[in-house]
Amino acid sequence: ATPTSIMVGTGRGAEMGVLFRKGEALQLLKDAKVVAVDKTGTLTEGRPLLTDLEIADGFDRAQVLARVAAVESRSEHPIARAIVEAATEEGIALPAMLDFESVTGMGVRATVDGARVEVGADRFMRSLGVDIGSFAVLADRLGNEGKSPLYGAIDGRLAAIIAVSDPIKPSTPAAIAALHQLGLKVAMITGDNAATAQAIARQLGIDEVVAEVLPEGKVEAVRRLKAAYGQIAFVGDGINDAPALAEADVGLAIGTGTDVAVESADVVLMSGNLQGVPNAIALSKATIGNIR
Ligand code: ADP
Ligand code: MG
Repeated sequence: ATPTSIMVGTGRGAEMGVLFRKGEALQLLKDAKVVAVDKTGTLTEGRPLLTDLEIADGFDRAQVLARVAAVESRSEHPIARAIVEAATEEGIALPAMLDFESVTGMGVRATVDGARVEVGADRFMRSLGVDIGSFAVLADRLGNEGKSPLYGAIDGRLAAIIAVSDPIKPSTPAAIAALHQLGLKVAMITGDNAATAQAIARQLGIDEVVAEVLPEGKVEAVRRLKAAYGQIAFVGDGINDAPALAEADVGLAIGTGTDVAVESADVVLMSGNLQGVPNAIALSKATIGNIR
């Protein structure tokens, strides 16, 4: 491609809200074979709501919700806001909390009313030796509905299962259809649990799912998908997407995402949604493909 065609393509991109931070990205995108996409905040709104709360026998619902929400009040995870909001809506006052700790990719813990409270994924409970078997059937059902099951433990005993659901952005289905139309595979990479991720992928016609990935595992997932399919574009919005954005042949950040993601990306999607990706690839094919 000539410098002029790159300039023209970059300008056209800017007009449609696709900002190329590197001219090279415009040239590379036309050869992409697979687009790997972060789930939360990229495919979905990133604003989950609490949908289900089941309390284990022997625990008091209001007390469990109060303690769990108290711990979550210190977390910045979108899941935390959903839980705190639910407690607030029920008019539950949050008790004081001590020794807050966030365990990456797992959950959060703190001491509330002298009790040890842990909230997080099934693998967090397993690592703590908390038996979640009594909620296994319910957890399967929630996962198959595309909801994310989480657990609350008090003093090492399972106290509640909590489900949150994060709505899919209205623009997502058409963007995935457009990527398929362009002949690309679409993969989802997420820290969320496997059943939930599979249900959402089924709903969206996503070709491949890599679930239950720890933040540092996203880079490894990008490498594996690249080995399997060839040139890879990765799309994400979060701090923990930054290494994967840098690792992919082309990294595309959702413009409404975190600064760290935007700074690690080759392309920024000002629309704040996935539709910018097929637009960018089509632009690359149109400007670069036709020139030689
Ligand atoms: P993702 O961006 O996919 O949510 P994370 O690494 O942030 O990935 O989290 C992975 C999983 O750890 C979440 O899906 C959730 O199950 C659990 N988790 C993380 N933070 C919290 C929290 N504050 N409260 C409850 N669960 C959490
Ligand atoms: Mg995200």
